[in-house]
Amino acid sequence: MPACNGAAPPSGPVRHTVVILGGTGEGAALAARLADNPRLDVVTSLAGRTEAPAPVAGRVRIGGFGGPEGLADWLRTEKAAAVIDATHPFARTISENAAAACDAAGIPRLVTDRPAWEAGPGDDWHFFSTLTEAAEALPRFGRRAFLTTGRQSLPAFAHLAEMWFLVRLVDRPAGPLPLPVCQVVVGRGPFDVEAERALMADHGIDVLVTKASGGAATSAKLAAARALSLPVVMIARPEASGEAAAHTADDVESWLNRILGT
Ligand code: NAP
Repeated sequence: MPACNGAAPPSGPVRHTVVILGGTGEGAALAARLADNPRLDVVTSLAGRTEAPAPVAGRVRIGGFGGPEGLADWLRTEKAAAVIDATHPFARTISENAAAACDAAGIPRLVTDRPAWEAGPGDDWHFFSTLTEAAEALPRFGRRAFLTTGRQSLPAFAHLAEMWFLVRLVDRPAGPLPLPVCQVVVGRGPFDVEAERALMADHGIDVLVTKASGGAATSAKLAAARALSLPVVMIARPEASGEAAAHTADDVESWLNRILGT
């Protein structure tokens, strides 16, 4: 029988719970990378907007938290060591909630940044601050619009009886859409320039409508619009928080290493 010497039982290396607020390709790529680190327990949080989210490495939880207090409670329960906000640039509420929740729970937080799109020669981009303003102006630019602003944005275009819409959605809609005349195409990025050009040409599109989301996954439509000499109606990004952000997965890993010694 082994002697009892009062020493603490042997334990493995500490695993730190890292929460990724996701719903983006960047969030999924980050989860895939961090989940390879045996010292990290990676949990990605999704809002639950899409019926069949793309696979994500590590643990996944789905659904809202019930505001910043709910998020702070959940982070405490999970004993989260760090939060990475890799949400979409237009998802401002969850980012503001994450800032408040992490402050309240004393948990370090890092925001990831997605490079903005830059107009180049041949681009004909028109920026609007809101969906409502973009919809108001749309008939000035064309009559057959490729609408890529997401399901939640559609009511803003509902009154445009003179327009025809090709609507791209992540999920096939269960019922009719709130648009006068439209056709749905289902798709999830990344997209290819030639396929985007063919899609727009085949449907006689004369104007593209998009959020100024930035990043590579959905930028092919802009190159396609340029090739077809089409105007682009763009909804400008909401004001950024102004805090320092990580630009690459390397930046995120260095930050985690600095605060957690991973
Ligand atoms: P939002 O307006 O910033 O958030 C609305 C509410 O949805 C939040 O208050 C929160 O509910 C819940 N929520 C949002 N993101 C969440 C997450 N990652 N995990 C758990 N709950 C979340 O967000 P949104 O613009 O509707 O976007 C929803 C999700 O879709 C985000 O995760 C975003 O990354 C992704 N997405 C958005 C867009 C876009 O154009 N907005 C495009 C592509 C992907 P509670 O207050 O109840 O916690």
